[in-house]
Amino acid sequence: MNETIVKLTTETTPGVEPKSSLRCIQLPCPCCGETLANVSLHLSTLDDETAANFTCEECTADFSLADVRGFIARWTPILSWLELIPAPAAE
Ligand SMILES: [Zn+2]
Repeated sequence: MNETIVKLTTETTPGVEPKSSLRCIQLPCPCCGETLANVSLHLSTLDDETAANFTCEECTADFSLADVRGFIARWTPILSWLELIPAPAAE
């Protein structure tokens, strides 16, 4: 079973108004391929799935929920197909 560790960074600097874009999640970036990229989540854009919902702090690319769903959709049939392959018989 795969375990994904999602680390939420919610610290705020004292005296500074927390912005909705300060939430940062460590995830693989679909743009640069960094496996533990700090990805900023822009809460104010979540009503539009094609907006710049996320920004990768490693490559500074903006991407949307639709981009992430598309990325996952490309892998999903492969994962389903792999589950159909029988495990190699032990010799
Ligand atoms: Zn990136």
